Amino acid sequence: MFYEERCTLCGDCLVKCPYLAYPEEKAKVEFKKLIDGEPTPVTAECITCAACNMFCPEGANPFDLINDRQEETGTFKVTEQSLAMMGMADQLPSEVIEGDLGKPAMNLCSVGDFLPGVIEGQLFDGLTLIKGGDYFCYVGWIHVGKPSKVKENAQKFVDNLAATGAEEIICYHDDCYVILAKKAGEMGIEVPFKVTHIIEYLRDYVKDHAEDVRKLNMKVAYQQPCASRYTFEKDGMLDELFDLIGVTRVARKFDRTDSLCCGGAMAAMVDVPKEVLNGWRMKNIMDAKDADAEAMIFLCPMCALGLRNRSKAEGLEPYMLSNLVRLALGEELVHGGAGKRFELSSER
Ligand code: SF4
Ligand code: SF4
Repeated sequence: MFYEERCTLCGDCLVKCPYLAYPEEKAKVEFKKLIDGEPTPVTAECITCAACNMFCPEGANPFDLINDRQEETGTFKVTEQSLAMMGMADQLPSEVIEGDLGKPAMNLCSVGDFLPGVIEGQLFDGLTLIKGGDYFCYVGWIHVGKPSKVKENAQKFVDNLAATGAEEIICYHDDCYVILAKKAGEMGIEVPFKVTHIIEYLRDYVKDHAEDVRKLNMKVAYQQPCASRYTFEKDGMLDELFDLIGVTRVARKFDRTDSLCCGGAMAAMVDVPKEVLNGWRMKNIMDAKDADAEAMIFLCPMCALGLRNRSKAEGLEPYMLSNLVRLALGEELVHGGAGKRFELSSER
């Protein structure tokens, strides 16, 4: 939600945006146009990374306004393919795989089956697994310029999860956590179960199984998902987790507040040439490589799909965060760190 009353028209959001990088005066003028509902190039140029919500010193959530204007004006052009893919997400077959009594549930959303060999091993033993279209959070619609889909379906999403009877639900997908931990409150929707982020779950699991952990002594770069821009407060837990498994998060330019989009959002846009998209992706990976990282760590499976092969090609082993933890617990990753690799040419 955009908080207009907090906005001082400082322009920081559009100045700090890595993709638009407007000069200060232009940024102020164009942001005022957004507030006033006047046409501005921002709605077509913004790649929907949500980073400006973190840049805003007033907590006004400028991206939420940009995203609403993208939908109102229809100036944000995305491919038919990306719209079709988004439309399929709530049509996927749904399933609740009952776990052990007294253990929490984990919502895999509609992305739980994207990467083979990730939802397995002791971390998932006994959890009730919830997955499929009924449990899709709709946050992905933000990236095709249709935030109204998120608002229209938020209550249904919460109700479907509540209907499973779970008292605690761990969010595998960062997007789901945004709805349950942040946006539901903004919309006045009550969430009748405990919500746990997967980073918190992994950290606590490692703490509880400290005797089984072998320190990895690895230097890694982290690919922050765009959804984390709404719930950045959990970043400290990630540092704690890395510390517990003997992993050093390298200091690099494109991390934390200055993280780059994995490219998934840009790939949906009609007007972004492939070489521009690849250019941003390689900037990100080379930044990690230059900082001496040995591995690239992903929280979101969409980020992994977009960057894993390029990371590997540059000598950075790709891992989903849960798989990195499994490695520290001595498990064998039969499908590799981030699912089976496929040819670079098939990824955009
Ligand atoms: S959402 Fe990302 S691309 Fe869009 S204006 Fe904000 S920082 Fe720039
Ligand atoms: S939304 Fe925030 S960063 Fe953007 S102009 Fe307003 S106060 Fe400044």
